[in-house]
Amino acid sequence: MKSFTYSGSPARIVFGSGRSNDVASSVEALGCKQALVLATPHQKSDAEALSERLGALSVGVFSGAVMHTPVEVTEMALKVVAETGADCVVSLGGGSTTGLGKAIAYRTDLPQVVIPTTYAGSEVTPILGQTEGGRKTTVRNASILPEVVIYDPDLTLGLPVGMSVTSGLNAMAHAVEGLYAQDRNPVSTLMALDGLRAFKDSLPVLVNSPEDTDARAEALYGAWLCGTVLGTVGMALHHKICHTLGGSFDTPHAETHAVMLPYTAAFNAEAAEQELAAAAELFGGSIDGGLWDFANSIGAPLSLKEFGLVEADLDRAADIAVENPYWNPRPIDRTSIRTLLQNAWEGVRPD
Ligand code: NAD
Repeated sequence: MKSFTYSGSPARIVFGSGRSNDVASSVEALGCKQALVLATPHQKSDAEALSERLGALSVGVFSGAVMHTPVEVTEMALKVVAETGADCVVSLGGGSTTGLGKAIAYRTDLPQVVIPTTYAGSEVTPILGQTEGGRKTTVRNASILPEVVIYDPDLTLGLPVGMSVTSGLNAMAHAVEGLYAQDRNPVSTLMALDGLRAFKDSLPVLVNSPEDTDARAEALYGAWLCGTVLGTVGMALHHKICHTLGGSFDTPHAETHAVMLPYTAAFNAEAAEQELAAAAELFGGSIDGGLWDFANSIGAPLSLKEFGLVEADLDRAADIAVENPYWNPRPIDRTSIRTLLQNAWEGVRPD
């Protein structure tokens, strides 16, 4: 065993069917009395129902959260925080809503209770990605990490199958990159492997039975594990490429992760053979072909061209992806990244 440093995230995790009913006690346990409930426009009515359940502990709902946390939306939400005298936020939704709660906490230090309804994993990371003037920047700060996360699988029963698949693969990408992270530790590796196993077991069940409560719980458990890995250790080429495609070409977040994962795993398969061996075992002995077959079997998108990206974009994407690269087990050069993008654009099975 090599030497390592392990820093656990100081968050309280509440897990289980029906546990979102504990939201009032979670708010009170933080010493708060005036929660502002956050959501996207799409989940407004769920947020209003939650606000009603909170009763006197809620000062209302702000349902303007959108993808990539634009600063203008954060400023609108901050006005509502000031007007209502909110002393905490309750974020109900996926990564976009959690991002808004984090952006508020970063500026005000208000405590956050997050109730995730996708598998993105943002709720257990101290990382905030936000956009201003079309540019995405990322900040990492202790004040960004939510204080309480309530994982209630009942709230994911309605997550459409397509989103369950891509969001699950998004989470799995955190785990795969966590396995070869330079700063990995034995605990992050345990979490990454069990996170991958949880999704490998649950996603095929959810495709056929989206309301299977056991599979929903297993997937949400996987989301917690994979998200924790994302929040604890450094990410590599896969995340750099997805940030490039999402940030500069506006490709959809979870779907881009889903398409890219087998290709970035293929790129690193040899350089990180030992680190990926247990994960490869889970997917039939080959991390890249195995992940592609798994994604294919659950109906995931398989090529970048499905998102309207045109072949002519790939040159610029390769240029941006190799600028200020994240550490990666296999050295990065522009030619091989361009080839990797070409394969992912076409959807050719890696082997
Ligand atoms: P999302 O939050 O944008 O959700 C997509 C849509 O699905 C929204 O309209 C949402 O309201 C809806 N939705 C969510 N849960 C639902 C449910 N159970 N049933 C029906 N509809 C539901 O998508 P996401 O993939 O969770 O989050 C993506 C965002 O999160 C991106 O901006 C990404 O950068 C960010 N993110 C950040 C981190 C981090 O650590 N900072 C980690 C992962 C993702």
